[in-house]
Amino acid sequence: MITDLVQIQRLGRKKLEENKRLRVFMKTHHTAERRLRNIAEEIENAIDCTECANCCRVATVKLREREVESLARFIGISRKGFLQDYCEQSAEEGLILKRTEKGCLFLEGNMCAVYDARPMTCQDFPHLVRGEGSILSRMWEMPDRATYCPIAYNTLEAFKEALGFATRK
Ligand code: SF4
Ligand code: SF4
Repeated sequence: MITDLVQIQRLGRKKLEENKRLRVFMKTHHTAERRLRNIAEEIENAIDCTECANCCRVATVKLREREVESLARFIGISRKGFLQDYCEQSAEEGLILKRTEKGCLFLEGNMCAVYDARPMTCQDFPHLVRGEGSILSRMWEMPDRATYCPIAYNTLEAFKEALGFATRK
């Protein structure tokens, strides 16, 4: 299991095309969802996200309307004030949390300052074990996530081994 973030970035980038091929392979070779889920759960349970927090530094956080309400309540400010001070509009993703040069503006060290009210996308990240639809339907983003998330990187490696995916053309 690799958890060093420098190595994850280097290897994830090196294997980007290979991981895209894995995505196609999985679409064309039936694999039981339960099996994929067991693999992903085992990897996720073995990795301590509080030692990492890299998704909070790298990924943007899309917000749903009800999350705006609950975060504003959690912080103790008005919805309008929260939108003004903590949110911005992204052309690609719609309403997102503002970021600083260190990542999400709620990140303090490796901890989330709004953990109990954190948005659903943060709770589900990297969307392998949790999320809507099957793991296969969520594979689209995984080659990119494997360049910065140890859970995504190691799970894709475990999928390759379990599915007999050839890592060389
Ligand atoms: S989900 Fe991935 S990137 Fe985020 S803290 Fe956990 S291991 Fe790190
Ligand atoms: S809201 Fe919390 S969990 Fe979500 S990205 Fe920001 S610091 Fe991380």
